[in-house]
Amino acid sequence: MKTTAIALFVMVALFAVTVVAQPKKPAAPKGLTCPVSGEAIKDLKKAPSVQYEGRTIYFCCKKCVGEFKSNPAKYAPKQMVRCPVSGEVVKDPGKAQTSVYQGKVYYFCCAKCKPQFDKEPAKFAKQEETPTSNQHEEHNHSHSH
Ligand SMILES: [Zn+2]
Ligand SMILES: [Zn+2]
Repeated sequence: MKTTAIALFVMVALFAVTVVAQPKKPAAPKGLTCPVSGEAIKDLKKAPSVQYEGRTIYFCCKKCVGEFKSNPAKYAPKQMVRCPVSGEVVKDPGKAQTSVYQGKVYYFCCAKCKPQFDKEPAKFAKQEETPTSNQHEEHNHSHSH
């Protein structure tokens, strides 16, 4: 029994050390991920991209672009960015307005959606997480793009 107690103590101590050793700087907000590798794309402006069905799709590296081109229909749906306010597909996230909420990057279809999100991020972020139907929703506010 004594050995178990010591082992437990060591585990707790190690755990405490691990927690303390964690760097304090906040993690980078989670943005787009490569539809091929699933890796985070650090800088959309530098990332290789491909035009597909009117959208711009971003990749972590050129190798993934090649893989995408061999099977675009498989990978394209994996990077479907929707505006959390209007539900519209964001055609080019690299040029879209963005907001960061709870460590996640949100991309907007237009400049009018961002201030709405910033006013009530919890409301819109929650909406985005609930699974929605594939039906195309009408823009819930009136403005032309
Ligand atoms: Zn890659
Ligand atoms: Zn909009």
